Amino acid sequence: MRLPALEDLPDVSGRSVLVRADLNVPLVPSERGSLVVADDFRIRAALPTLQWLAERGARVTVCSHLGRPGGRPDGRHAMEPVRRHLRNLCGTAGFEVELLENLRFDPGEEGNDPSFVDRLMQGQELYVNDAFGAAHRAHGSIVGPPQRVPSAAGRLLSREVEVISSLFDRPAAPLVAVVGGAKVSDKLALLESLLARVDTLVVGGGMCFPFLAAQGQAIGDSPVEADQIHRCRELLRSGRDVVLPVDVVALAEEGTLGPDGRSAIATYGRDIPRGWRGLDIGERSGERFAELIEQAATVFWNGPMGAFEDPRFARGTRFVAEAVASSSAFTVVGGGDTVAAVEGFGLGDRIDHLSTGGGAALELIERGDLPGLAALRQQPGRLTAGLRRS
Ligand code: AMP
Repeated sequence: MRLPALEDLPDVSGRSVLVRADLNVPLVPSERGSLVVADDFRIRAALPTLQWLAERGARVTVCSHLGRPGGRPDGRHAMEPVRRHLRNLCGTAGFEVELLENLRFDPGEEGNDPSFVDRLMQGQELYVNDAFGAAHRAHGSIVGPPQRVPSAAGRLLSREVEVISSLFDRPAAPLVAVVGGAKVSDKLALLESLLARVDTLVVGGGMCFPFLAAQGQAIGDSPVEADQIHRCRELLRSGRDVVLPVDVVALAEEGTLGPDGRSAIATYGRDIPRGWRGLDIGERSGERFAELIEQAATVFWNGPMGAFEDPRFARGTRFVAEAVASSSAFTVVGGGDTVAAVEGFGLGDRIDHLSTGGGAALELIERGDLPGLAALRQQPGRLTAGLRRS
């Protein structure tokens, strides 16, 4: 897919450039009580574009969303901790940028309100979209600016689109996709197209329970919705290769005793009893998944295998992370939580491509395009006339 690149912009020197980045990073309270950035992967990933522009004399303003404040100002989602972190990183590299307040403090961002975009673009002469993680959203700051000023894709966005597209255009076979995480309904819609493109689909994390239920297995109190089970049944009927966990680590509701009469955590093979909630894949599943990953030539992984933030339920995710890291396949890992898990295990530099986008990567695979990419390609003629073609 040909996207206008930074080099296609008119001379940036002395011009005001608005960069839409995805700086939606996790924050944690520091010892002094203020919020600090817990994982700066997405901030670091935005730097090459910012540096490219700053070095050429552009006046760079960065904007991003942070969390889900729901269209009004909310101190817990203020950009200040991100701003401090970004300033430090840019300062070390020898340049400066401005960072606007959280875009989602204004309902016009998610509502794609033209007057919001007009205000955002006031005084801006050029626009760069480098927010791969948000490019699947038709929000104001993503689709509005290319209608107004000459616009280009940043380095990160271009690279992400190139890698994710190549993964599914002509991948080395076998291609194994591993999907987990908790946003089951969001991802189920995308699994169908993923299934058609992969040799094997491995399902773990919260995603596996509607599949296990569709197969007739008891899943205890693991959360699923009836329509999810129905959709999973259809996917399983497709005849494609879907691999599900053969054992699950579950946590008992308070007061429920385990098989040994004591423990509140137990591994179940078939049928999780009532009062128990599946929170990780078991060891046998981890070994089976690792074997499939070892045999793959291309691996795409999105979504942790369990509630890995709690060390009691991190084993399955670690199993898969280690298998992906040691695999000789071309490996792509996407999604904020999955990347955080891999980095937390110290395995980040052994993955070929760590993607900043989870949902965006899945949607790009499904549709072959994203609203943010289409907006960059469909700039009005009077704007593209200003873009130098290389
Ligand atoms: P997602 O954004 O869909 O990739 O989901 C990531 C989240 O899923 C992480 O915070 C995990 O803790 C959570 N998760 C994964 N598996 C489970 C599970 N079996 N039960 C509850 N949460 C899970």
